[in-house]
Amino acid sequence: MIIAIANQKGGVGKTTTAINLSAACAMAGKRVLLLDLDPQGNSSLSLVHSEQINGSVYELLTELNEPWDNFINKTKVENLDVVPSRISLAKVEAKLVGDFDAIFRLRDRIEKIRDRYDLIFFDTPPTLGIITVNALVAASHVLIPIQSSYFALEGTDDLLETIEKVRARPNPDLDLLGVLVTLFDRRTALSKDVEAHIRKVFGKKAFKTVITRSVRLEESPAHKEAIFSYAPRSSGAEEYMKLSKEVMRRA
Ligand code: ADP
Ligand code: MG
Repeated sequence: MIIAIANQKGGVGKTTTAINLSAACAMAGKRVLLLDLDPQGNSSLSLVHSEQINGSVYELLTELNEPWDNFINKTKVENLDVVPSRISLAKVEAKLVGDFDAIFRLRDRIEKIRDRYDLIFFDTPPTLGIITVNALVAASHVLIPIQSSYFALEGTDDLLETIEKVRARPNPDLDLLGVLVTLFDRRTALSKDVEAHIRKVFGKKAFKTVITRSVRLEESPAHKEAIFSYAPRSSGAEEYMKLSKEVMRRA
């Protein structure tokens, strides 16, 4: 299963979910690859084990003859590898725009390593540009994190429309894996209203697990760790572990 974590809104928990969900699946014994496709994000860098970091998304999508081994980095989490990103989004987009096969770059690349992993995750940038489209074309599933705030569903239509377009032609097999409520605040009626609304709109596609707003989750990247080693008994660790079970069940 190849899962694109996407929402063109920034700050909704894509990267936090990508890191902790991929770590949880790896801890459950799956062979997992996390591809950081947000050239501005760099968060997956925090998990890389060695000082010397291999490759970046830019070369991955433009230097097509460079072997995969030049991109893959082991992490502190057993069974979890990452491909980090280190360059500007503008540079990748400029390089790809105008190439007739631009939206198929990642799919062609992934084809050659998909057998090495049980699960591949893509963390995507906060745009619906060519990188996110590459992710949707290469993925089998998409997971949409939605922040439980007032304008939560604003923009979701554009994302769903893009998913439909990708499904219409380049990738008919793309499935919505699920919608994840993030940054949930149990103390506010607003959070609960938004959650109820998301469940009404998405029905069974909404994951049962909700990710609560927590200081531990916010702090963990700064400590270069996934939540399971940084704060193993926190709500965030428990919730991302539960989410990973739901994800693996839907696989
Ligand atoms: P995105 O990748 O969608 O832009 P991030 O995962 O980077 O979103 O999250 C945006 C900010 O919110 C980051 O500072 C992150 O640490 C913080 N954050 C994400 N999820 C939580 C959470 N459940 N509780 C508290 N802070 C969170
Ligand atoms: Mg991000």
